[in-house]
Amino acid sequence: MLNHTCVMCDEGLLIKKIVIDNVDFKGQVLKVPNTHLECNLCGCIELDNEYMKLNNRALNIEKKKALGLFSGTEIKKIRENLRLSQAEASDIFGGGKVAFSKYENDDVIQSKSMNTLIGAASRIPDLLPYLISQSSLSSLPKFQDDYDEAYLEEDFNPLLECKN
Ligand SMILES: [Zn+2]
Repeated sequence: MLNHTCVMCDEGLLIKKIVIDNVDFKGQVLKVPNTHLECNLCGCIELDNEYMKLNNRALNIEKKKALGLFSGTEIKKIRENLRLSQAEASDIFGGGKVAFSKYENDDVIQSKSMNTLIGAASRIPDLLPYLISQSSLSSLPKFQDDYDEAYLEEDFNPLLECKN
């Protein structure tokens, strides 16, 4: 990908460049890194799909910050603390099959309501079992086992159990 010959002048080399763009967003100016290939001879700029994806992610990261939403990295951390795969989290929280992959890679900005739900699940321990019970995952034995285990580790008291 690097050092390809420029298709416009057919002589110069395309060099990777990163510039900081000022992007107006809801009354704020976001500083967003923009990566592209630039011809060292004619100055022509070329963008391929990979760079467009990269630039879109960089823009979404700054937009999430400006909106006060979780970053992709923060969502990943919360999901891992909840011991969910991306597919499981997408099923439980909604947003489509690959929603969490997109949120975590900053390909998509989660809605405010999705952000609130994810935050609530990370703070309120009783919420996740309820959300699971409302999802198609409720019938999967894996989840039942997980919660029995968690219950035993944290709350199970054999003495109390005998008295009852
Ligand atoms: Zn050129």
